[in-house]
Amino acid sequence: MNICSIRGAITIEENTKENIIKNAEILLNEIIEKNGINKEDIINIIFSATKDITKAYPAIATRNMGITDCAIMCMQEMDIEFSLPMCIRVMITVNLDIKKQDIKHIYLKGAKKLRPDIALKNTGFAVAIDGPAGSGKSTVSKIICKELNFIYVDTGAMFRTITLYCLQNDIDCNNKDEVTKELKNINISLDFENGIQQIYLNNENVTDKIRTQEIAKNASIIAQIPSVREKLLNMQRKIAKDSNVIMDGRDIGTNVLPNANVKIYLDADIDERAKRRCEELSLKNEKFEYDKVRQGIIDRDNADKNREIVPLKKADNAITINTTNLSIYEVSDYIIKIIKENIK
Ligand code: C5P
Repeated sequence: MNICSIRGAITIEENTKENIIKNAEILLNEIIEKNGINKEDIINIIFSATKDITKAYPAIATRNMGITDCAIMCMQEMDIEFSLPMCIRVMITVNLDIKKQDIKHIYLKGAKKLRPDIALKNTGFAVAIDGPAGSGKSTVSKIICKELNFIYVDTGAMFRTITLYCLQNDIDCNNKDEVTKELKNINISLDFENGIQQIYLNNENVTDKIRTQEIAKNASIIAQIPSVREKLLNMQRKIAKDSNVIMDGRDIGTNVLPNANVKIYLDADIDERAKRRCEELSLKNEKFEYDKVRQGIIDRDNADKNREIVPLKKADNAITINTTNLSIYEVSDYIIKIIKENIK
């Protein structure tokens, strides 16, 4: 037997004694049933209730259910911005022969918004984040993925990896036919360490190698070649089908995942984006000139926005966030809020 803790939450319809107890019973019964728990093996039960629940302790439900010989506690939950109103949470500690990954935490009646990672387990929930270079896509996506346990797919890295191959093998990035002919020799694979993407070019991990200004510049040329986009499109869609993802790029909301559950378009003023890029370069001890970095971004924006094939543009139903004067946490909290609102 293992000692394990099982979590759950439910919302109530009315702040009445009957409704509080009824819902607490529904929640406890579901946890007990779905996890095959014997009531005698329960060690303790801790409830919390939001401040707006005042008419009864949810813990009364345990007695009604004949659970009397374990420690029970009930407390008020902190009031936190965006927290779900009229919500009862519970944690049950129990002696149970079950592997941690097989535990079924139970979130009912809208309370699954509290735990998108559990509610959405492998459902193919997709968040598309598009926007120009330096708008904060990757930084923000990484934070959100950590918090929600999604995987972060950086599609720009895929274009950069094909670019790296071309530069290493003296293939002219402007020559569509030459690049197209080489594609069969380019094997890109991804791996996710703690939800963060590692990218491999013919089995070599090139995650860091592709982060140069030269590669960025040439990637926006490579990205105009239809055969390159087609090769990557299949890969991108396949990943999103099997997992909950935040995918960032230029055409995710418009082309790669047109049915994404949430679409975000990030933008920021050019000077702010140039400043962010320079800070990154300076952290890596790379030499740079502000004006050149700024111009590089403008050129890349122009190439990405004006190309014939799937140019960078906001999807009609995307939410635009201008990140110029926002911290990365303000942006990520806002997007997390939008994601939670979109969990059905
Ligand atoms: O996002 P990142 O700067 O790494 O992307 C490099 C280049 O790859 C972009 O400038 C763009 O030309 C191209 N790209 C694209 N479509 C995507 C992602 C990136 O065309 N979905």
